[in-house]
Amino acid sequence: MHNHLDAPAVVRALAPDEPVILNRPHAAARAARFFATRFPGKSLYAVKANPSPDLLKVLWSAGITHYDVASIAEVRLVRATLPEATLCFMHPVKTASAIAEAYKVHGVRTFSLDTHEELAKIVAATSDAEGNAARDLRLCVRLRVSSEFSELSLASKFGIDLADAAPLLQATRQVADWLGVCFHVGSQAMTPFAYVQALDRARAAIAEASVVVDMVDVGGGFPSVYPGMEPPPLEDYFSIIHRHFESLPIAYNAELWCEPGRALCAEYNSLIVKVERRRGNELYINDGAYGALYDAAHVAWRFPVRCLDEDRTGALEDFAFYGPTCDDADYMEGPFLLPADIAAGDFIEIGMLGAYGAAMRTAFNGFGQGGAVIVTDEPMASLYTGRKDPRVSDNVVSLR
Ligand SMILES: *Cc1c(COP(=O)(O)O)cnc(C)c1O
Repeated sequence: MHNHLDAPAVVRALAPDEPVILNRPHAAARAARFFATRFPGKSLYAVKANPSPDLLKVLWSAGITHYDVASIAEVRLVRATLPEATLCFMHPVKTASAIAEAYKVHGVRTFSLDTHEELAKIVAATSDAEGNAARDLRLCVRLRVSSEFSELSLASKFGIDLADAAPLLQATRQVADWLGVCFHVGSQAMTPFAYVQALDRARAAIAEASVVVDMVDVGGGFPSVYPGMEPPPLEDYFSIIHRHFESLPIAYNAELWCEPGRALCAEYNSLIVKVERRRGNELYINDGAYGALYDAAHVAWRFPVRCLDEDRTGALEDFAFYGPTCDDADYMEGPFLLPADIAAGDFIEIGMLGAYGAAMRTAFNGFGQGGAVIVTDEPMASLYTGRKDPRVSDNVVSLR
């Protein structure tokens, strides 16, 4: 993969007709070191946010040893890329064959569940040929918690209700060598209070079940920074989580885990797109809803943008984007702030697409074929540079 200084240098070198993904390994490594050294427990990378093997290697080198995988394809991918990584199969609904292959072929011992049926499935799929149950299972019961403080909900699909949790915790304790409790507060949790509320539920569930709990996993949801979404410092999340974890009724040597996806990889990618046509303040660009801009189209997520043509000096105005496919759904409302004189033929850099962006590209309608290059400049915004910008909150740094 070629190295370039920044997006303008890529445009000068390639004048790309297809969208180009820019990788910033230094930014992902910085985020990984931050979690590996500052989170008061173990940080698992949630692979679904961006399963790029290059990124997995960067995170591993920067100290991330555990990986939250959700499908057998993710298990195989991470095992092939990082042979020594610890894999945790944290999807609460798995096929029996996926569980068996993960356990028997790939050395997975940690599984999550939120029903008695899934518990029975895990026990059956990991038993030996004589029908003896595995004695080394590390099982995590997923609790349903609120998503009210998050931009994207994960509350309705998974997790057992508090009222039903005690019998499942007790049944799981019977067969598990090591018992965890996990939850997910939803993605882009804009306040640490989301975790306080969830930990209070965990406390109630553990107390009612009166089982010994060896691990509490606060899941993902740690935010990144986007236009209009500037979260408090991650240190605040870490210290509040730690304080509430310490007061839980759990084993004295219990572990604290988290599963960041977005926070570890959002800064890893940006994207160069080309303006193919302008109609009023709508720009027809060559990536969209079926490419790296899925969230921009489907949940009106706003990403930072900049025009890469130096001659454009117009005042910034609000623009919307159309993607390249033939349907109206390929539309991104924004608003995206760009110079008033932007025109067809110009290039735009769209930032902060490392999480749920670069990973979402499809080849629908013959688009999505562009390549990737490495750049060495800073991402458009960062939670981790340590420099302070008084216009935004303490550790969120807008770089332009
Ligand atoms: C998606 C997911 C994550 C990662 O969430 P982020 O909001 O990207 O941090 C972590 N754990 C589980 C179980 C998930 O489904």
